[in-house]
Amino acid sequence: MKAAVCESFGKPLVLSEVPAPSPGPAELLIRVSACGVCHSDLHLIDGEWRQWGTRPPFIPGHEVTGVVEEAGPEAGGFAPGDRVGVPWMQFACGECAPCLAGAEMLCAAQRGTGVTVDGGYAEFVKAPAAFVHRIPEPLDLVDSAPLLCAGVTVFAPLRRAGDIAGKTVAVAGIGGLGHLAVRMASAMGARVVAILEEEERGDLVRGLGAREIIFSRTEKIRKRLSVMGGADLILLTAASASLFEQCVPGLGVNGTLVVLATVAESATIVPASLLQGGKTIRGSVTGTRDDMDAMLRFAAEHGIAPVVERHPLGSVNEVVQRLRAGKVVFRAVLVP
Ligand SMILES: [Zn+2]
Ligand SMILES: [Zn+2]
Repeated sequence: MKAAVCESFGKPLVLSEVPAPSPGPAELLIRVSACGVCHSDLHLIDGEWRQWGTRPPFIPGHEVTGVVEEAGPEAGGFAPGDRVGVPWMQFACGECAPCLAGAEMLCAAQRGTGVTVDGGYAEFVKAPAAFVHRIPEPLDLVDSAPLLCAGVTVFAPLRRAGDIAGKTVAVAGIGGLGHLAVRMASAMGARVVAILEEEERGDLVRGLGAREIIFSRTEKIRKRLSVMGGADLILLTAASASLFEQCVPGLGVNGTLVVLATVAESATIVPASLLQGGKTIRGSVTGTRDDMDAMLRFAAEHGIAPVVERHPLGSVNEVVQRLRAGKVVFRAVLVP
């Protein structure tokens, strides 16, 4: 099969012919329809996330959709022809403290698609049936690929926030994650405030359902959010310490800021500023399998599709460059 292989960290991917994976008894072989290109892939390809256990050669890609080609005898319930998706998490032990506490995405024994197991920058991928998700109609298999990572990453904290109808939800950073957060929060009935750097995507973001837009280069986030009574929830989807610092004072009473981006630099906040108003700062990473299935149903029912650029798998290195340069609107998917 055709695949884009990371043969050494920090180098362009190599398009090559490799053997198609052969599924075990409880696994599925999936013909890939599309695979989203996530920011995490850049960190993995560059060797910045070796703590996950990633070692070249490997095939990246953890936002995979496709059609079941072959189902092992113990791959309960799946059959050839089924529409499915494969996310980052393709194994969690089910026995450790986080798994037992309903937070399997924090399992230390976790295996990741395109991380420690070959991923979706390829014509075929295999995965354990227990961690494969059905893609409901009428979601398009190609367009919906980014739901498998970007979608669940923003849906899980929105879901945990409870009833956000009529509440003020700010989304800071409008890329792959942020644009889906705007659509989902808006479908849940929130007053959505999008926080963007550049003015050029303003109209596009309004079209996604943002009621208000704050341009962080020229406007004070705190001031604009205060006029609205402060944000009940802020989702930080851009890896920027400065944006984090500017968002904290924009929280309203009992407001929560959820960090979803891998902000790897230090940020400064005044801890006392959290006291008055009982504010919370927390982090969130992907979601559980239940979050994923709920998100896919929600997206199908509300007609929420990612806005994607479709590119052939053969253009993978150009696509990676576009993503590095911040030129992708809003998510790129590779079609083998
Ligand atoms: Zn991802
Ligand atoms: Zn576990």
